[in-house]
Amino acid sequence: MNFKNSHLMPKTEIKILNEVTETMLLKYSAPLSCVQEIEISNRLKTTAGRIRYYKRTNGHQKHYSFRISLAFNNYKEFGFDSIKKTLIHELSHAISILKFDSPGHTEIFKKICSENSGTMNSKIAGNKYKEFASNDYCRTKYKYQYTCQCGASFKRKNKVKKTQGMCCSRCRRPVAEMKVQTLI
Ligand SMILES: [Zn+2]
Ligand SMILES: [Zn+2]
Repeated sequence: MNFKNSHLMPKTEIKILNEVTETMLLKYSAPLSCVQEIEISNRLKTTAGRIRYYKRTNGHQKHYSFRISLAFNNYKEFGFDSIKKTLIHELSHAISILKFDSPGHTEIFKKICSENSGTMNSKIAGNKYKEFASNDYCRTKYKYQYTCQCGASFKRKNKVKKTQGMCCSRCRRPVAEMKVQTLI
């Protein structure tokens, strides 16, 4: 995959995003080349992710290409898992469009997104898909900020217990070795 601004994230994490993309496209027999670009975006502020698509018709054959943008802010605030699940959300759009001619947050989209453990906001998820709902990108009140010695930081609503075994997504240092700040 062609990543833009990949330097904003550790190579190992970009590699995982790449694998997630390839695995998902292959699963639905979608050509890998249909995703032209995945951008880690500094400009995307109001949403966690976005997909744009272009359609070309050649005789009765339709060719689609997609450009995905993922908010760097989402990664900074909520970590790698959040950006990964947002990528799955955007890829579910690509597959819904490509395979089922179904753009938007349709039932087909929700089925694909949930089957691949992507996230959607709670309004889209409704009751049926509530276990896949995440409001990470809608600002919640965070009380604790954890800063790792490597510089990575994340916020939590509740204090992380040392026994939870949580560690830094960048350097794998345990949470017990991080600096904790209480936010107002
Ligand atoms: Zn969407
Ligand atoms: Zn770290």
